[in-house]
This record gives sequence, C-alpha cells and structure tokens, in this order.
Amino acid sequence: MKVSELGEFGLIDLLAKMAGGGDERLLIGIGDDAAAWQGDDSIQLASVDSFVEGVHFTPETTPWQEVGWKALAVNLSDIAAMGGIPRYALVALSLTDDSEVEDVAALYSGMLKLAKQYGVTIVGGDISRAPLVAIAITILGSSPTQKILTRSSAQAGEIVAVTGQLGAAAAGLEVLKGQRRLDPEADTRLKNAFLHPTPHIAEGLLLVDQGVKTAIDISDGLVADLNQICKASQVGARLEVERVPVEPTVKTAFSERALELALSGGEDYELLFTASAEIVDKVKKAASCPVTAIGEITAGKGVTLVDKEGNPFKLAKAGWEHF
Ligand SMILES: [Mg+2]
Repeated sequence: MKVSELGEFGLIDLLAKMAGGGDERLLIGIGDDAAAWQGDDSIQLASVDSFVEGVHFTPETTPWQEVGWKALAVNLSDIAAMGGIPRYALVALSLTDDSEVEDVAALYSGMLKLAKQYGVTIVGGDISRAPLVAIAITILGSSPTQKILTRSSAQAGEIVAVTGQLGAAAAGLEVLKGQRRLDPEADTRLKNAFLHPTPHIAEGLLLVDQGVKTAIDISDGLVADLNQICKASQVGARLEVERVPVEPTVKTAFSERALELALSGGEDYELLFTASAEIVDKVKKAASCPVTAIGEITAGKGVTLVDKEGNPFKLAKAGWEHF
C-alpha cells in the first residue's frame, strides 16, 4: 500500500502502534504537539518538525530569512501548545549541490533572530546533501510548573476558545502566490502573517496558570486541529462558525472566502483550547490578546459546524493533510 492511500493520520497511527508505549517517566508519547516526560526536576518537552522545499515553502514565495524564521517558529509553537518554555534546538539541514552559502546564512540569521527573541540556543545539528532543501528542527523545552497542556483532556460541556484572530496566514499565502492584489497595507499585513508567525509562548504559560488543561496550536486549520483534540479526548465539538474571530483585513480583502480561510486555512499558530466557562472568562481577563469562545465540547464524535440558527454549516475543505 502506498502512504498516499493510507493518509498522513493513518500512517501516524500505524507507526505509533509499532513504537509502542513508553517507560514509567513518559507522560505524553506520540500524538500530541510535543512529547513530555518527567525529568529529575521538571517536566521535559521535545518536538521535531520538518520544513521541506516545495511542500512547506518555495523560494519564490518565501525569502530564505523567513524560511529560517518560520521553520523554528512552528517548533516553538508546539512547545507553546504544551504550556512550556523552549530552551534548545538541534537543526538538521538538507542542501542541494548548488545551494548558495549566502542563502544558508540568510536562513540561519532568520532562525537566530527568533531564537534570540525567545531565549532559545541552537546547540547542534546535521548537514546532508539532498535533491531539495529541507530543514528539520528538534526543539527541547520544559514546563516551569509541573503542569502541561495536552490534546487528550477535553471534557463534554467545556467551552472551546481560541487566542487571536484567524485566516491571515492562509490569505497571505494567496497574496504571495499573486492570486490576489491588495492595497499596500493589507498586502504587507497578510504576507507578514504567513511569513512571520509568532509562537504564543506567553499565552501557553498563561493558559496553564489559569487552570486550562487542553490545548493545541492551529497549524493545519481550526477545524482540523479541533478534530485532533476530539480524537485524542474521545469527545465531539460543536463549532459556531459565526463566532470565529476572522482577521479584519481578511474579512475586507477576501469577503466571501474569509470564513473558509479562518476555518480551514491553517498556519495561524494561535492556540485553540478547551476549559470551563469560568476558566475561559479568567483567561479572557488575564490575556493581552483577544480570546474568543467559539463553541463547546460535546459527548459525540468529531466536529459539527453550525451557523447562528444552529443549522449545519458545510465546509469545502477541512484542513491540510500530507498525502
Ligand atoms: Mg502543533
């Protein structure tokens, strides 16, 4: 069977079964934003992500500096989704015969800019020849509190909420591909959302602080990532699409498609979480970014989209899946 027939998530299930369970110190294995285990003094976190030319980026739409920034940002975002602090990174570079030293240096400078901002040190890596450019980053972090956020702890009756606003990254990619012409301000804003995602480390820590237990970062798309929480927690979710905070520039520039971009676009790297109404209120008051309740966890299975009147809402494409 080809991996394209099994699908990305089918393949992960197969490999997770082969890898089996962990040891007594392991808290979270395969299937969350990062692995977590009990270290001697604190909970340790680790995650790895690949960034491949032609799949995650093309040199035409993403300058090398931004490739470096983004490759690391998506890793930091996974640590944010666990409520942890990123510490060290290992960077494996695959380069082609005709890769330019200047481009590799630009890639590294973008990565180092972000690393510095978040107190992350690059402590090692690997370089290999390959038919195309790829960056695989392993990030190591820890939890300062002995508490972490997982995908598997959502409970029926909880509120589903999200930080920030959605849709700008997916809209930015369309602008970068030249599919939409906008005024200069909107153009810059949306391109920047795609090229310069911000990992929400402070927000992840705040969620833990306020008693939230369940979170994921939005990488594949709101609906797809909420579905991951449902799968891991064995619950369902009801998502009220009109409550989803769509980024205002996206609303203006992509009027009829704005909601779709916010629901399934992905790469916004905001945090999606579930908690009691009381805790969500506390998070709203304490957070310096917008926090919006967009639905609730149910006893069912999968994500149900509804409009204002409670009627089913149909979505063309749920989110990104490799293969
Ligand atoms: Mg993630």
